[in-house]
Amino acid sequence: MSDNKTSTGRARILTGDTPTGQLHLGHWVGSLENRVALQDQYECFFLIANMHAFTTRADKPADIRRSTIDIVKDWIACGMDPEKSTFVLQTEIPGIAELSWYLAMLLPFNRVMRNPTLKSELEDKGLGDNYSFGFPMYSVGQCADILLFRPELVPVGEDQLAHIEPCREVARRFNQMYCGVNPHTEDEDYVKAGGLFPIPTGLVGRVARLVGTDGKHKMSKSLNNAIFLNDTFKQIKKKMGGLYTGRMTMDEPGDITNSLFEYVHAFIRDDDRIKELEEAYSKGDNIGDGHIKVEVAEHIDKLLEPMRERRVPYEGEAGDQKILELLREHTKQANNAAEETLYLAKQAMKIDFGKRSLLFE
Ligand code: ATP
Ligand code: MG
Repeated sequence: MSDNKTSTGRARILTGDTPTGQLHLGHWVGSLENRVALQDQYECFFLIANMHAFTTRADKPADIRRSTIDIVKDWIACGMDPEKSTFVLQTEIPGIAELSWYLAMLLPFNRVMRNPTLKSELEDKGLGDNYSFGFPMYSVGQCADILLFRPELVPVGEDQLAHIEPCREVARRFNQMYCGVNPHTEDEDYVKAGGLFPIPTGLVGRVARLVGTDGKHKMSKSLNNAIFLNDTFKQIKKKMGGLYTGRMTMDEPGDITNSLFEYVHAFIRDDDRIKELEEAYSKGDNIGDGHIKVEVAEHIDKLLEPMRERRVPYEGEAGDQKILELLREHTKQANNAAEETLYLAKQAMKIDFGKRSLLFE
């Protein structure tokens, strides 16, 4: 751990979600579960990347706003605690856009475009050649989202690791160029050596990449293959039922590396039972896919049960208002942390022509 000093003395976490839909089981196993587990130990900043939602949905502002509120409801439902952590609404933090500009100068254009996640997102989301200039820009923006909060740890799904890498590169470059840190410094020593930014580490969740109910792509809120955190048991059963395995009969030996077994491992948290299922399935021992799907659906339902309860006080229009209120309160805390880093960055860049203070009503 580096000497990164924060107001609470605890190391920080920054991570977040784009409001392009509701949160799903992939988010839970990939990132949310770690957020909930680490929120006591770390000073946490959880970001709603609503500015980035415009990179693919500029024509749907009402949807983005709806999803922003829904995602905060999902967060609270899954146990992320607004009393312990700071919720950061990206569009209310001007420092993010500002730092994005400075960091953009330190990232070669070809490096940004080479990002494999960016390429597969273009493909998966069918963006073809018509994507906006802002779309690849989001990859630079993400570096600013992260670095502005000077976190040490970024809990993400596997697909996002490729976005953390340029962030680590740009943090090293900034520290070397503007803070005089020797390029041979070990990553964990950058702050000790006088750098502003710790070199953050991605923390991949228990399941790095949960497959969607299409059995093919990663579960994604944009791909119509997700089980959402607020789905009912009926919906979960129906979606699990549609998972394609290609197996025809109960006595046909099954492949225990198929997508159904990815779900078995992710949601039946009982090693003995998993072993039993694997043995019976691989032998074709009178066990149907349908049976296993129902069993997985029951486990998922049990996982989501307490989430449904925590969601109750935030239902409907009154619930929306509570969320907006909460976001307004948290914006102040978030800007305090963000502005502190931004000013230090501007000092390092010799553009500290006056300390501004942001007023928020
Ligand atoms: P979109 O389709 O709009 O890209 P998404 O479902 O990929 O949405 P994001 O908001 O891009 O969700 O991702 C939020 C976080 O959840 C990231 O850290 C991402 O890596 C993680 N995540 C998303 N989907 C999965 C998945 N299927 N398995 C594991 N982690 C995931
Ligand atoms: Mg995504």
